[in-house]
Amino acid sequence: MSTLLENWKRVVETIPSHVSLVAISKTKPVEMIQELFDAGQTVFGENKVQELVSKYEALPKTIEWHMVGHLQSNKVKYIAPFVSLIHSIDSLKLLKEVNKQAKKNNRTIPVLLQMHIAEEDSKFGLDETELNEICNEVNTYSSVEIIGLMGMATFTDDEAAIRKEFGYLEKLFQKMKALHFHDDPKFKHISMGMSGDYPMAIEEGSTMVRVGSHIFGSRN
Ligand SMILES: *Cc1c(COP(=O)(O)O)cnc(C)c1O
Repeated sequence: MSTLLENWKRVVETIPSHVSLVAISKTKPVEMIQELFDAGQTVFGENKVQELVSKYEALPKTIEWHMVGHLQSNKVKYIAPFVSLIHSIDSLKLLKEVNKQAKKNNRTIPVLLQMHIAEEDSKFGLDETELNEICNEVNTYSSVEIIGLMGMATFTDDEAAIRKEFGYLEKLFQKMKALHFHDDPKFKHISMGMSGDYPMAIEEGSTMVRVGSHIFGSRN
């Protein structure tokens, strides 16, 4: 078995069945994606629009493509025809544009609202006030479906700090679910956890992990 398949199997074995695995394939060649797809991995994530589009065009159309990176409003149109889930909605402006492009393509696009949970200022995401503002208007945008929240923890060795950030995201999720979504079963995802911290994220309530380097090997 190839190293790629061995790595993937090792990750799959540690993930409980209620958690889905998004294989983050950024910077990696289409041959590797095809190999994993043939082995049964159907969901892949990218963080750049251009790379996402060219991989979509080159690979089987039954792959589910997730956009996980920061997304500029003027680039939404390129991925709107095919993207399965956008993890990185970090402004009302972006949500409105996704709604507009979804409508143009006669589809509903599922999205996650990205929350700023890390200590670092550099990470994108909404604060709680902005989150409430968007959730107050959930029914205004009929061509997007908000199915949960996403967050990235601080890059640190401090496990307690990471758990605290994941725990905060999980609490926010429960709060929004009760307050704005009235326990609608469609609002069900917490996308948190990457190669370095996904086992902890799962313990803290993640339903979707985004794993890149543990599967594909390190990036340059
Ligand atoms: C690159 C990336 C990941 C995966 O990172 P790894 O540490 O390689 O697992 C997850 N989420 C986002 C948003 C990313 O950009």
